[in-house]
Amino acid sequence: ALSNSLAATDIASTMHPYTNLRQHEATGPLIIARGDGVRVYDDRGKEYIEGLAGLWSVAVGFSEKRLADAAYKQMLQLPYYHTFSSKSHEPSIRLAEKLVEMTPEPLTRAFFTSSGSEANDTIVKMIWFMNNGLGRPQKKKFISRVKGYHGITVASGSLTGLPGNHRDFDLPAIPVHHLTCPHFYRFGQEGEDEAAFTARLLAELEAVIEAEGADTIAAFIGEPLMAAGGVLPPPAGYWEGVERICRANDILIISDEVICGFGRLGTPFGCQKYNFTPDIITLSKQITSSYMPLAAVMFSEPIYQAIADNSAKLNNFGHGFTASGHPVATAVALENLAIIEEKDLMGNAARLEEKFQAGIRSFADHPLVGEARGAGLIGALELVADKATKRPFDPVGRAGAVANRIGHEEGLIFRSIGDQLALCPPMIVTEDDVAEIMARLGRTMDRLPAALAA
Ligand code: PLP
Repeated sequence: ALSNSLAATDIASTMHPYTNLRQHEATGPLIIARGDGVRVYDDRGKEYIEGLAGLWSVAVGFSEKRLADAAYKQMLQLPYYHTFSSKSHEPSIRLAEKLVEMTPEPLTRAFFTSSGSEANDTIVKMIWFMNNGLGRPQKKKFISRVKGYHGITVASGSLTGLPGNHRDFDLPAIPVHHLTCPHFYRFGQEGEDEAAFTARLLAELEAVIEAEGADTIAAFIGEPLMAAGGVLPPPAGYWEGVERICRANDILIISDEVICGFGRLGTPFGCQKYNFTPDIITLSKQITSSYMPLAAVMFSEPIYQAIADNSAKLNNFGHGFTASGHPVATAVALENLAIIEEKDLMGNAARLEEKFQAGIRSFADHPLVGEARGAGLIGALELVADKATKRPFDPVGRAGAVANRIGHEEGLIFRSIGDQLALCPPMIVTEDDVAEIMARLGRTMDRLPAALAA
């Protein structure tokens, strides 16, 4: 009765993100009541493996008491303070120091926000502020990619390259050019091999720079591996080429590591997997295992120096959030990163990569799977109506939704992105957990053809 009344109250009083709201009114929510390790339990006690770690984010699993203790201790000592106007506090200082130590060499500074979207908005404004200060106000445009995901606020949502985040929201609202999505399976052309595909994408980048003028382009932003767009590993040589072209044209490189950061791809940061060195990295999600909302912009010393000069001229860097560097969030992040190190969760991801990817790829021969792909501890199955022609389902998303429902029945939560089934389990998974995830995914895929025919 309680669960029925909770569901009814949800339908009557809330509005859910990323939801067909009319459909939600008819079906109601799946109410998750508690979590334990890699598992969560709904309000009826049914057990699920959280195959997406919440939203690609709960690295240490769902019952890490040390994070609760860190939050409690910090709340008793200093539950809140801000970082405006030269105020500071120890957790935010220590976390900045820790992140500078962890991230690649050129990054020497941290700026904190509460979400990945705010972090990417902050980057847009930092770069504009910097370039205005440097007397090059025309250097404002961004280059992004179709299917890239960088958030949903007005600026970050503009950088995002997914139609569903633009349509009827009047985005993009900032100057941004979206390049071809670097996904060979879908965007490779007839007769083109992967190397030719990479060459075509890089030629496109050069052509855009040539047409727009390098002096008008501020930065290139990309996820090392596109996650929310469907788990799309880049073709070989892509990032090396992007880096070479951006460097030749004085265009900053932003690696949005909100999902790839902290070992997800088997390297500490995604840029290391694909051999490029960014000027700016966006971090969030696994930074606190999402126990608290937190994100960080990590950036290089030249960027800091230019912004600092302009702040001295204007007597202000007029940007920041009430919760920038929030002491409880940053204290939890420090403890979370300590756990990631002590349990060697980044090493765990690297060690389990082969088994996890072999599990994902074992579905490649399934009649409804067009492509089985991934890297590190992230993977996806792309469902298609016709394997030979790669023809998608019509309408797009129906097969994904049915798979999602069957997955729930089989005790596995993954994310269906249209008809792409994405998996990104907590970084604490064991070999047995990976086997169990693949077994549940297998039962889901076994049932799918008949369910779609029904
Ligand atoms: N950037 C990337 C790569 C993401 O995957 C996400 C969220 O999934 C964001 C930015 C936005 O983060 P948030 O949802 O915290 O605003």
